[in-house]
Amino acid sequence: MYIESRELPLKHKIPVGKTVKYWKGLEEGKIYKTVCRCGRGYYPPHSECSFCGSETEWVEIEDYGVIEAFTVVYTIPKGFEWSKPYTIAIARFGNIRVMGWAEEVKVGDKVKAFTAKDQSGVWKVYFEVV
Ligand SMILES: [Zn+2]
Repeated sequence: MYIESRELPLKHKIPVGKTVKYWKGLEEGKIYKTVCRCGRGYYPPHSECSFCGSETEWVEIEDYGVIEAFTVVYTIPKGFEWSKPYTIAIARFGNIRVMGWAEEVKVGDKVKAFTAKDQSGVWKVYFEVV
């Protein structure tokens, strides 16, 4: 059976008032998480701890992380036509996990995270194996 379809572009407006420090940090080469006095860490940052309700504090993530998972994206999404297949990875940095773009990685690799602007002008987190 043939199913007709049509494109439905969606745009979302996400409130960023409490996370401006995170977005500005990327432009300054800093990757922030938030931590609570109860010991929990949040990435992406949360302004309040979802466990105890306390306000959290901003701190930079640890210098080194370890790759826990990755996937290679071969089907390039609309808007990223300039991109070649790319790797998205998740790495553990202390008590948080960070998602970032990477070249060749494997589970268990020790990585350093850094920020850079992609070809569409968006600041992102990248990993390099160390
Ligand atoms: Zn807490």
